[in-house]
Amino acid sequence: RAKAAGGNRYEIADADSNARVIARHSLTNGLPSALEKGEFFIEYQPLVRLTDGTVRGAEALVRWLHPVHGVLGPDQFIPLAEDTGLIVPLGRWVLEQAARQAREWRDADEDDGEPLRVNVNLSPCQLSHPTLVSDTVAVLENAGLCPSALCLEVTENDLIGADESALRPLRQLADLGMDIALDDFGTGYSNLSYLRRLPVSTLKLDRSFTRGMQRAPADPVDVKIVEGIVSLAHTLDLAVTVEGVETAVQAEHLRGLGCDTAQGWYYARPGPPERLHTLALADAS
Ligand code: C2E
Ligand code: MG
Ligand code: MG
Ligand code: MG
Repeated sequence: RAKAAGGNRYEIADADSNARVIARHSLTNGLPSALEKGEFFIEYQPLVRLTDGTVRGAEALVRWLHPVHGVLGPDQFIPLAEDTGLIVPLGRWVLEQAARQAREWRDADEDDGEPLRVNVNLSPCQLSHPTLVSDTVAVLENAGLCPSALCLEVTENDLIGADESALRPLRQLADLGMDIALDDFGTGYSNLSYLRRLPVSTLKLDRSFTRGMQRAPADPVDVKIVEGIVSLAHTLDLAVTVEGVETAVQAEHLRGLGCDTAQGWYYARPGPPERLHTLALADAS
């Protein structure tokens, strides 16, 4: 499958489609108890300020340590969790873990610098769930964090077509001071006037736009597109984060184009929280 080439390290060995159906079944069956059994864990991938290369925070990315299949990536089980409704408790768990982690990093920070912020991905099911706002507020309160300690990522495609009432919970959270990022930006078809109405503070530019800059010379069309998006975003007072930065050439190019924050293998692959803390401490010294 095309996705397997996308760098996901946790593909199940690809067999025929029959075996995939069976695998899908067994994964779906194992999902509900996986949360109780503590089989999920979170890796953190740093978000780096392009201006000075310091770690600004991290994105929380969920994984499933499956008793039979080993470590599975979110692309392999999030869709199943969405189909079965498990995404709501799972998403709440991820949010709780991320908040606890943000709090831990804040407490460990001795020089009282800007605390590391944690980004959490939200599924469309969570967006339309009636307790999103109250759950999120409760998680922040339990962790003793202010709303700006977390950023929620929602994909452009999940918001397309959402009317004002569907956007209300997200707007409430944004009004409380949470950062909202539009993930995989550029892969959907939201028009620009629509973008203006969304309660988002950051565009996360999909990595398909930055792939053409991995090596010099950069793809001139990609450069123009990123230039245009950055200028549009900054006009609308939105920050730009770039995904999938894999090389130094690419990082330098994107910095030159005015992108604010970067994330990708060039800086670090997703990993355990301790590693992120080490990276952040290395900046401070
Ligand atoms: P995303 O939010 O766009 O996350 C970025 C994905 O790109 C991650 O894949 C990350 O490991 C990968 N990535 C990071 N840097 C690079 C790079 O330099 N090159 C390449 N080729 N890839 C890079 P991952 O961890 O497999 O997650 C896939 C998607 O699963 C995420 O895409 C997000 O949409 C979803 N996801 C992850 N965690 C959660 C969660 O807790 N809840 C929900 N609802 N979705 C989640
Ligand atoms: Mg994301
Ligand atoms: Mg993304
Ligand atoms: Mg993406």
